[in-house]
Amino acid sequence: MPDHDVDLFIIGAGSGGVRAGRIAASYGARVMIAEEYRVGGTCVIRGCVPKKLLVYASRFSDDFEDAAGYGWTVAEATFHWPTLIANVNREVSRLEAAYTTTLERYKVALVKSRAVLEDAHTVRLASGARVRAETILISTGAWPHMGPDIPGLEHAISSNEAFHLPDLPKRIVIQGGGYIAVEFACIFAGLGSEVTLVYRGENILRGFDSDIREHLRSEMRNRGITVTCGHTVAGIEKAGDEFVTQLSDGSAIPSDKVMFAIGRRPNVMGLGLESLNVKIHEHGGIGVDKFSRTSVPNIYAVGDVTNRVNLTPVAIREGHAFADTVYGGKPKPIDHSNVPTAVFSEPELGVIGLTETQAREQLAKVDIYKTSFRPMKATLPGRDTRMFMKLVVDGTTDRVVGCHIAGHSAAELIQVIGIAVKMGATKADFDATMAVHPTAAEELVTMREKAVSYDRATAE
Ligand SMILES: Cc1cc2nc3c(=O)[nH]c(=O)nc-3n(C[C@H](O)[C@H](O)[C@H](O)COP(=O)(O)OP(=O)(O)OC[C@H]3O[C@@H](n4cnc5c(N)ncnc54)[C@H](O)[C@@H]3O)c2cc1C
Repeated sequence: MPDHDVDLFIIGAGSGGVRAGRIAASYGARVMIAEEYRVGGTCVIRGCVPKKLLVYASRFSDDFEDAAGYGWTVAEATFHWPTLIANVNREVSRLEAAYTTTLERYKVALVKSRAVLEDAHTVRLASGARVRAETILISTGAWPHMGPDIPGLEHAISSNEAFHLPDLPKRIVIQGGGYIAVEFACIFAGLGSEVTLVYRGENILRGFDSDIREHLRSEMRNRGITVTCGHTVAGIEKAGDEFVTQLSDGSAIPSDKVMFAIGRRPNVMGLGLESLNVKIHEHGGIGVDKFSRTSVPNIYAVGDVTNRVNLTPVAIREGHAFADTVYGGKPKPIDHSNVPTAVFSEPELGVIGLTETQAREQLAKVDIYKTSFRPMKATLPGRDTRMFMKLVVDGTTDRVVGCHIAGHSAAELIQVIGIAVKMGATKADFDATMAVHPTAAEELVTMREKAVSYDRATAE
């Protein structure tokens, strides 16, 4: 009788876990995966996918308005939130079924149950059943953090509930300044809600390039979103059908909904990690090496639970690399540098590499190229919006080490620019590339004037 019931037990069937299971099984491993909620995890069920569908929905209001500038007469458009949510849910269920079918096709055994570790080789299911595994992969993701226990906290929703609201709130207060808060602020505003974004820091999107942060903030203001920085929510009171949000400066905002999107915490609690001596990193995620191995040699962890770069493609890549390393005889360390990323705000952001501030800290010489212009499509409707692009160049090697775009299709653009940046393209390579005209993207290869030239030797 074999020592183990399975070769690999995976806890969590999200982006990282499903990919790891499928690839490990394709190498011949006997794999079991446990999921306590819905197969597909955060991205498919209550993250990227439903969010992007809401983003698409929210952008029609601009399209209807702008159509007039192009000669169209559009009858007064009306919006029905329950229809949108029902359609989104149907698509989410379709994807969940597709993920489940993939697991079946690869003969990965799925158990719909919470799973915790009993010892380094034993997983306990909710039924009390135990499964012995040679290797264990933890891919339990992360969960919305709701902050300190302020009065009325029970009235606040997180992004999880935002996908299931029965009605579109007429007025909503959103606390947070990260990408999820900003995206939901733009979604609700686009659908017609009156939105107030409350953030404790001095500007939204901490960690992004300062020009991009400023640009988006002013565009959001132009779109009627109130962005209140330097404050926190001190309490929420229910008054009849509405909520009154008290801010740290004593002011109060009435609204129909209050949402918190102030960060996410890795799902490490209650898994049995403490007794096994699986080390938790100081950032709160499971500590792992470059092959995603924890401090216990047969236990690995991938995705948001490791709190490295919390994005779906990264979790997928980590899960895939784990399976290649452990079952495919192809050790694959993960390179977390130069990960292109997007914020599906309005306007959209696409960024990769160093911000100007990071470049000045890390490099001896930095050249900055930037441009801000009214996109062609906005001219006829007279829409008051600008597109912004910035290249951060290493002044010594001429390599483009950062690219920051705000505007239409920025997410699509940054995926492609990401290849050039990852390959080490220089500014001269960008300049040598022929423009595609008329596009917004042509600005990326036609920026000639340095906006800033920084030389540490002379700056100090
Ligand atoms: C609102 C929102 C929008 C986002 N938008 C984007 C985006 O546009 N682009 C992007 O790249 N990323 C986005 N993300 C982040 C992305 O969803 C995550 O980075 C990704 O899902 C992480 O994958 P994972 O495999 O680590 O975890 P998850 O996908 O979270 O999967 C973990 C799974 O484990 C299960 N689980 C947890 N504990 C247990 C247990 N003990 N037993 C059994 N099952 C368990 C959970 O139910 C869950 O299904 C978004 C996230 C949110 C919340």
